[in-house]
Amino acid sequence: MDRTRWIFAGQLGPAFDDGGPMLLIEARSVFARAPMHRAKAHLLLSAMRHRAAELGDRVQFHQVERYGDVVGTGPSALVHGDELEVIDPTSWGARAMVRRLGARVLPSRGFVTSEQEFALWAGARGGKRLLLEDFYRTVRQRTGILMEGDQPVGGQWNYDTENRQPPPKGAVSLGLPDPWWPTEDEIDDQVREDLDRWQAEGTVNLVGEDGPRRFAATAAEASTAVSDFVESRLNDFGPFEDATLTGDWTMAHSLLSAPMNLGLIDPREVIDTIAAEYTAGRAPLSSVEGFVRQIMGWRDYVWHLYWHLGEEYSTGNNALAAHQPMPIELLALADEEIEANCLRHTVAGLRQHGWAHHIQRLMILGNWSLQRGYNPKQLNDWFINMFVDGTPWVMPANVIGMSQHADGGIVATKPYASGGAYINKMTDYCGGCRFNPKVRVGPDACPFTAGYWAFLDRTEPLLRGNHRMAQPLAGLRRLSDREAVVLQERQRDHL
Ligand SMILES: Cc1cc2nc3c(=O)[nH]c(=O)nc-3n(C[C@H](O)[C@H](O)[C@H](O)COP(=O)(O)OP(=O)(O)OC[C@H]3O[C@@H](n4cnc5c(N)ncnc54)[C@H](O)[C@@H]3O)c2cc1C
Ligand code: SF4
Repeated sequence: MDRTRWIFAGQLGPAFDDGGPMLLIEARSVFARAPMHRAKAHLLLSAMRHRAAELGDRVQFHQVERYGDVVGTGPSALVHGDELEVIDPTSWGARAMVRRLGARVLPSRGFVTSEQEFALWAGARGGKRLLLEDFYRTVRQRTGILMEGDQPVGGQWNYDTENRQPPPKGAVSLGLPDPWWPTEDEIDDQVREDLDRWQAEGTVNLVGEDGPRRFAATAAEASTAVSDFVESRLNDFGPFEDATLTGDWTMAHSLLSAPMNLGLIDPREVIDTIAAEYTAGRAPLSSVEGFVRQIMGWRDYVWHLYWHLGEEYSTGNNALAAHQPMPIELLALADEEIEANCLRHTVAGLRQHGWAHHIQRLMILGNWSLQRGYNPKQLNDWFINMFVDGTPWVMPANVIGMSQHADGGIVATKPYASGGAYINKMTDYCGGCRFNPKVRVGPDACPFTAGYWAFLDRTEPLLRGNHRMAQPLAGLRRLSDREAVVLQERQRDHL
């Protein structure tokens, strides 16, 4: 029997199309659960509707309340589960659903390393810690990308010492051309109209600003976004990968996570394009390697860990006993209520675009949440819903593991906690802030600097066994004003 291919929101590009009949369902209930960023809802709807338009007669496109209105197992179902095939979807929930419905399941796509290859790699390590660096080097060797025989081109695996520079002194932006932005069309107009109507009816739960659309919603737009990145930002990607400037919201980042996570462009295609720039002598190895590492290393690694660590990983881990509910300023993206300049600016960017770059996610939002002890599961879900590129698979290793250390050290050997000194070095935020990153007690005390010590004070009993924390904890014990810092941060009632 010729089965219909049911595609999901992460499978909207040509790599998920083998030419047969297709089914695509836009289910409104997805936008009615926890609050979602409106730019994210817009992007998802726009990408699905553009795909439906591209596929024309080849797709059955249904706009309904929930998947169950279309697919089922009973005699009244519009489409029977056992008439369908799916490329294994990207969340535990969706995988359980398609199996329950009796769809034929094909291996997942959209990553450089297959699930089978990862399982073999992890199995061969016999219970040893699965390190990103080991995984990444194995994939470089297997694919031959940026390799000369069995050695990395240039003789080094890692260019972190050349990359990760602070922002140029005195600069307000990197001075690069504005990234390419998509031109909205009548599909986007209809999406905006629908979202307005649904919001007015109260049937969806949205926060943040919507528009203009900044992220690719079709495969053609995604290709243009890749070319634009190569032309105008790739060379600066490595050096300024970790830097932040108030006047430059994109810095030299690619903005490709959303189109890749929607399945619009295959990561291997992106990597091959970037690697070819080095081969042609048009881009420095440090930037090219740094970028390839992010996609072939980190992106794939967090995807595979999502399955490897199991469904309970994001709900069952809270190693640092973090139980505080998230504050309304973050839940509602109310940046105007926030005093800390770095946090206010990051939340404002998130409100405007549904996006922030890696260091804003890790060292501002993540670091703040770690210090304040927000519940990691709530934070994980918030990240999924607030970011245009947020998905259930990408978040657990990044949030539960890397940023909140809630897994007790499976993904990262120590918590990513830092005080204002790091933020002062890598950003220009502190100059415009009413706090002082060097001060830890008093009205000018930086909430990140003081919060760092208060965090160590709270988690000392839980982190004592971690040898990488020995030095910070020794510093805590030497702190002359420890009690005053802790008390001040306990009483801080403002973000
Ligand atoms: C707390 C936290 C939350 C995050 N949430 C998301 C998310 O919702 N969706 C998402 O795709 N990435 C997420 N990341 C990873 C990373 O921050 C984003 O991929 C990146 O900022 C997206 O912007 P970009 O495409 O311009 O990335 P660039 O800086 O241009 O990097 C290139 C690509 O590398 C990949 N990448 C780099 N680091 C990671 C990583 N740690 N995990 C997965 N992919 C990575 C992305 O696909 C990205 O497009 C998160 C990281 C942290 C610490
Ligand atoms: S002084 Fe502290 S709160 Fe203010 S911008 Fe710097 S790190 Fe952020």
